[in-house]
Parts: sequence; structure tokens; C-alpha cells
Amino acid sequence: MKRVVIVGGAGRMGQAMAEGLSRYEDISIVGLVDRSEPRDLFGATYAQSLSELGDVSVDVVVDFSVPESVETSVAWCSTHHVGLVIGTTGLSDQQRALVAKAGEVTGVIIASNFSLGAVLSERFAAMAAPYFDRVEIIELHHDKKVDAPSGTSLTTAHGISEARRASGKQPLVDPTQRHTFEGARGADVYDGIKIHSVRLPGLVAHQEVLFGGPGEGLTIRHDSFDRTSFVQGVALAVRKVDATPFYANGIDSLL
Ligand code: NAD
Repeated sequence: MKRVVIVGGAGRMGQAMAEGLSRYEDISIVGLVDRSEPRDLFGATYAQSLSELGDVSVDVVVDFSVPESVETSVAWCSTHHVGLVIGTTGLSDQQRALVAKAGEVTGVIIASNFSLGAVLSERFAAMAAPYFDRVEIIELHHDKKVDAPSGTSLTTAHGISEARRASGKQPLVDPTQRHTFEGARGADVYDGIKIHSVRLPGLVAHQEVLFGGPGEGLTIRHDSFDRTSFVQGVALAVRKVDATPFYANGIDSLL
């Protein structure tokens, strides 16, 4: 039985994780940590911080909060030798380095997307990348998302750029000559790959990778219709991590 504490336990993902993970027989939600009180406790202990949890025994911390709070989770899990699964996105390079370093003292898995379909679509996009001249990404999320572009779109773009480089493709050059309005062509990320971010109420997490070549196009689309789509991947990660030093970026290697 893995005893899990969720940081960001009052948030949209935290509540969905508590509900989803508690359905597994080998996972028990023992704590919810959040600055605000969770709507539903799912039988767990509530605390405002990990250090205020008291004598609750913890095997794994699952973090779906904000980047600053991830730093606290990393420090706490490293000191207490507790496994850490991070779903929070928008981390700086420095914060990412801290997370990777924690993998030298305890088990750590960070993933920008825990849905299996999204991970597969990243793989498919990397497979297609060497065969097309142009590629752009459109990511669509609910209007409460605080960071842009999404972590998933950045991971996807990175995978595409690596695959393009490996096959000898040059960085993309935007053919647009005149921008009537700044920003119309999205954000240039790795090797000129563009990401366009859409934020609308009613959406959860969606992404289209559009490839273009002579006389043809290929679109790889993934939709997370609700937050249960992330539960299976988080459960995989929770089962994998413990106090044994380990680090993985993405759940690809766990599939
Ligand atoms: P949310 O705003 O609903 O929840 C975040 C929660 O964190 C809030 O309840 C907030 O009170 C809490 N929080 C903020 N600072 C805190 C602190 N210092 N200590 C403890 N709790 C604190 O956001 P959400 O929609 O649940 O998303 C949370 C994160 O998960 C975002 O970064 C989002 O991009 C990410 N996300 C990741 C995946 C994935 O598969 N990796 C999927 C969906 C969302």
C-alpha cells in the first residue's frame, strides 16, 4: 500500500487526484496539503504545509500546485526520503534543476502530462517530425490555467526538434513578412517551432500538432475531456517511486 499526500490538494487537479487515486486498492490518500481548505477531504488529514502534517506516515508526495510550492515539496521529500511525483507545470530552469537533483537522494518523477494519450501523441509527433517541412502546435486549455504555453506543448516541441535535428533538418524559419498585430504567429520555441495557446472556459487540455509537406498535412490531436485522464499516469508514477534515488522526466519510460 502506498500512502500518498497531495500538495495542492484543494485545487482542481488535487481534488481529481484524491478522488481518482483513492479508487485504487494499493493507494491510500493520507493527506491533503493546500493553503486553502479542500472541498472534499476523501478521509485524509488536511494541513496547510507538509511540515504541519504531524505524524502522518507518507510514502509518496504528489504535487499539483504552483512552482514555488514545488520547491518546498522537493526540500521536504529530500530531507524525509519520501518519493515525489510532480505534475505542476511552469517551473523555471532553476526549479527543474532542483527537481532533478532531488532524484539523487529519493525517487522523483516529473511529467508535464500524465495522460497516456498525450504521451503517445508526443511520441507520434516525434515519429512524424523528420518527414515534414513545417510543423506548428496549437494547445487549448481552460481559462483558469496560469501558465502558457502548456508544459505538454513544450515537451512535444522539444521532442519534435530533437527528431528533426537527428534527421539533419534545419531550424524552421517563419515565412511571415509582415505582422499586422504582434503575437499573431505564436511563440517561437525550439528551433523555430511555433506554439499557439488558446484559453477558453469549458476546455480541459487539448493539443493539435499540425505537420505540413508538399500537397499534404498530418494532424495529431489529443483531448483530455476531464481530469480523470491524468489519474492512470499518476498512479503508475506513484507505484514506481519510493525512497530509492531515481529520476524520470515524463512517464514515457513507465509505459
Ligand atoms: P489550481 O489552481 O486549481 O490548484 C492549485 C492549488 O495549489 C490551489 O488549491 C492552491 O491553493 C494550491 N497552492 C498554491 N500555493 C500553494 C502552497 N504554497 N502550498 C500548498 N498549496 C498551494 O490548479 P490546477 O488546475 O489544479 O493545476 C495545478 C497544476 O497542475 C498546474 O501547474 C497545472 O498546469 C498542472 N497540471 C498538470 C497536469 C499534468 O498532467 N502534469 C495536468 C493538469 C494540470
